Amino acid sequence: MGRRNGGSGAALPEKVCETCGRRFSWRKKWARDWEAVRYCSKRCRGTRGQGAEVDGQLLEVLAARPGRRWTALTPVSIGLSVAPETLRQAARRLATQGRVELGVGGRVVDPTAARGAVEVRLSGTTQRR
Ligand SMILES: [Zn+2]
Repeated sequence: MGRRNGGSGAALPEKVCETCGRRFSWRKKWARDWEAVRYCSKRCRGTRGQGAEVDGQLLEVLAARPGRRWTALTPVSIGLSVAPETLRQAARRLATQGRVELGVGGRVVDPTAARGAVEVRLSGTTQRR
């Protein structure tokens, strides 16, 4: 009988992808350079930096709205003409930086796992000038 996971049951190390904002776990192929890994996939590495301007646009739109009401995380609701996934990636990046919150049904959810009818609002700690 083999031992599982060294018997420790410890979870694999995780990071948040800088492109898509999703959490990903350590894989054997990264054993030598895990410290330097920033993207979850070749695709995310290839599209790095794309849509980065959407982060600022999304923050601007939210900051211009009164209060911290939830807004559906869709290009139409936000008023930006970008692809839905581009907008979601921007929101996840901002959420992992603590600048916005993502919610489902009015409850804050883990941004890296949020799916479905996701809503967005400024985080309570975001400084406004
Ligand atoms: Zn990714």
